[in-house]
Amino acid sequence: KNEVNIISGALELRKKTVADVMTHINDAFMLSLDAVLDFETVSQIMNSGYSRIPVYDGDRKNIVTLLYIKDLAFVDTDDNTPLKTLCEFYQNPVHFVFEDYTLDIMFNQFKEGTIGHIAFVHRVNNEGDGDPFYETVGLVTLEDVIEELIQAEIVDE
Ligand code: ADP
Repeated sequence: KNEVNIISGALELRKKTVADVMTHINDAFMLSLDAVLDFETVSQIMNSGYSRIPVYDGDRKNIVTLLYIKDLAFVDTDDNTPLKTLCEFYQNPVHFVFEDYTLDIMFNQFKEGTIGHIAFVHRVNNEGDGDPFYETVGLVTLEDVIEELIQAEIVDE
């Protein structure tokens, strides 16, 4: 039964898109670049349970870098380190994909390792009178794709 699921899941990957499985930007746990890594903020990060935290500058759709939980290893919350200082030190890159990418393409991108295991989802916004622009609408991780492949939820520890 599992094998049948995985085979049909693999075929489904070509039909489903990133938009179908992404986490919406409004539901993402993120940090503002001007946050301070005090006890309260670091506690919130730990309680969120996520290992990668998008960092935005000003607007939540303006994602500039990523904070990995492991980057906090040498942070003393008594120092009130600005998040910006840490971000400038690590400079973790962010990668973008389009919302209409199919999941087989997404899976290959994650597999190749060039974009890490999290990507931000872009869409071309041409509503309104102004010039079209890229709008950030969500995030997608390798886990989101694998769940489609095995057609089951992965329960995090
Ligand atoms: P983690 O290792 O942080 O648990 P996973 O890659 O296992 O993250 O993803 C688990 C689920 O959580 C996926 O559905 C993914 O889209 C979502 N996710 C990952 N990071 C965040 C975040 N910072 N805020 C909200 N959802 C997230």
